[in-house]
Amino acid sequence: MQFSSIKKWLAVSLLLIITGTANAQLCTTKEATAWDSKAAGLDTTTSRGLADNFFLWNVGQTINVRFLNGTEEQQRAIIALAKTWEQYANVKFAWVTAEPSNVRVEFSNREENYSQLGTNSNMVPDNQHTLHLEYALFNEPQRLQRTVVHEFGHVLGFMHEHSSPISGIQWNKDTMYKVHAKYGWDQDMVDAQIFKVYGKRYTNGTTYDPKSIMHYPIPAWQTMNGYNVGWNTEISEGDKQLASMLYPAGGQRQNEVPRVNVLNYSTTLVKADAAAGGIYLYPSFEVTTDGATGDVFFAVLLFDKDGNGIRSTDEKYNVNGCVGTYKSFRIGPGKRLNANKTAPDDFPLFIPFSNIPNVPANAEIQIQFRTYVSDGEELKSVYYSEPIAYRMTR
Ligand SMILES: [Zn+2]
Repeated sequence: MQFSSIKKWLAVSLLLIITGTANAQLCTTKEATAWDSKAAGLDTTTSRGLADNFFLWNVGQTINVRFLNGTEEQQRAIIALAKTWEQYANVKFAWVTAEPSNVRVEFSNREENYSQLGTNSNMVPDNQHTLHLEYALFNEPQRLQRTVVHEFGHVLGFMHEHSSPISGIQWNKDTMYKVHAKYGWDQDMVDAQIFKVYGKRYTNGTTYDPKSIMHYPIPAWQTMNGYNVGWNTEISEGDKQLASMLYPAGGQRQNEVPRVNVLNYSTTLVKADAAAGGIYLYPSFEVTTDGATGDVFFAVLLFDKDGNGIRSTDEKYNVNGCVGTYKSFRIGPGKRLNANKTAPDDFPLFIPFSNIPNVPANAEIQIQFRTYVSDGEELKSVYYSEPIAYRMTR
């Protein structure tokens, strides 16, 4: 982190408690799995009026999209469908053939269609796709249309409409768990993918819209009262309204929140320091900020080798119950900073050995770098790294 900038920011509170989501999941690397597939996975089985404002692009932004494969004809079909959003949202897609890109589209024969949610795409390494489409879509024009428009809705930050807090859907949970277990989904996954309901703020004041292109179809057996939703194939009136609220032609978004992108994370260097009596951690990353001013938390968390959080026994070095530490800053928009990049050790985090209970010397642990942002109302997880393995030395 550039030191001069750090001093300008105010450090905020010490104990990081994450609220607002399923707490049970927060102290495990499994959270990452569920989060990863938030905008992914289930689009194969397959919700308007719902968007995660923390992951929106800037109003008027050009979003660079690159195809990793596919024929020219296939690419043209995708471009034509994605472009329909440009009529309602003040963003532009630029179809680029080289880096830098924001969104990368890959086709394969895997029967999965999914996309990263909004600016989460920026956090994916340049050589990996952020949006996946199955080749079989090209044999079914209507399915191609609804799928591509839906996935590019995710690209703009739209979430599933069935996750709306005002949908009132009475899920037949027992049956849903049973059916999805057949596809290898445990209850946590079904909860995260289907039953999870987002805070009311994410509706941006809109109403529940069963016609949304972002709504999964819901066959009647999935609900207790026979409620059902068919296949939506086009951008609904509600979708258009939300698109113009999130990306207004006038350029000024109403519900702005602090938006933080973590880029080019490479690794977290760990150095045991006997003299200091603890471990120094040096996550290497860049960060850019947009939107409103907010508090950003750069954290490292410790897990056992199986990915279970190492329970913290005191209030210090505690991130939501797990052993961890963080530095926090109040950051306004338009910043670009880097940590442990220009110098390998300009942004140290430290945990004393005495605050790492129940980990014997030489035990293998996992260390994960995470970033959270708060707008005062909500603490949002915006980035987590692949965990690195570390052999504990004291
Ligand atoms: Zn989806």
